[in-house]
Amino acid sequence: MQIFYEAKLLQQTMMNSAQEICLVPTMGALHDGHLALIHEARRMVGENGCVAVSLFVNPMQFDRKEDLDHYPRPVEKDLEACQNAKVDVVFVPTPDEMYAKNHSIVIAENALSQALCGASRPGHFAGVCTVVMKLFQIFQCHSAIFGEKDFQQLAIIRRMVRDLNLPVKIIEHATIREVDGLAMSSRNARLSAEHRADAPRIWKALTEAKDAYQLGERNVDSLMKRAMSILEQSPYLRIDYLSLVDEENLSLVETIADSSGNFVLAFAGFYGSVRLIDHVTLSAQATEM
Ligand code: AMP
Repeated sequence: MQIFYEAKLLQQTMMNSAQEICLVPTMGALHDGHLALIHEARRMVGENGCVAVSLFVNPMQFDRKEDLDHYPRPVEKDLEACQNAKVDVVFVPTPDEMYAKNHSIVIAENALSQALCGASRPGHFAGVCTVVMKLFQIFQCHSAIFGEKDFQQLAIIRRMVRDLNLPVKIIEHATIREVDGLAMSSRNARLSAEHRADAPRIWKALTEAKDAYQLGERNVDSLMKRAMSILEQSPYLRIDYLSLVDEENLSLVETIADSSGNFVLAFAGFYGSVRLIDHVTLSAQATEM
């Protein structure tokens, strides 16, 4: 496994490579969700291809300093996990390596990022788009894998690739969960024991609404109330949003007509200062876990 700290050296190396390159961008503190993406990357490119991982806590996408300062950074452990997962190339830049002191170009998405996490976290998706664009350039990757857990991020990256004609194939991977249903996240490690024990209610609330939908409930208020009643029973959870949106354009859905495609019930909330997100897709044939 090759470890790079400098963007220029990595970019030159990748430019001279004849291998098919698949990138898994991460902020580190790797868990089984990240590892599933890495294994999918290997499946994509095969034994002769190049599986590349970035470990970079991108300051530009954090809207709260507290979150940035406390984001876990177990770099040695992450490198070991990459080695064990047979990753070929890892990039571990510092913020100064990624951003020139007077950097002044930002990639902004102006439609899909207005809702949900974009509304709660000003500048977040501009930070995501900018860093992902830079990583695509540095790695010269043919494809990149993103988790469906961050479904708004995935939609925005797909839009960026389309609108800017980027020659990168975007692959999505299903959400990996703990046995109790909680979506794996690097931030879960920061939950107190009480908060961790309470957190599976998020997935329970979302699946409750999904089950009702599959049984024929089409009243948006009733679906929301079912999920909300489980969330509101928590003595700890502070809800940021619970929103039903159109899967395609992420606009808020007020009424459901049977012909109108898929919907996403999306949640974000806080346990103390730890922000968690999750969502469920509502489609008549949904089998998603
Ligand atoms: P992060 O390190 O949180 O920025 O995540 C890096 C990538 O891993 C993103 O594409 C995430 O969507 C994906 N990811 C994070 N958690 C999970 C999970 N539980 N299951 C699948 N993918 C995930």
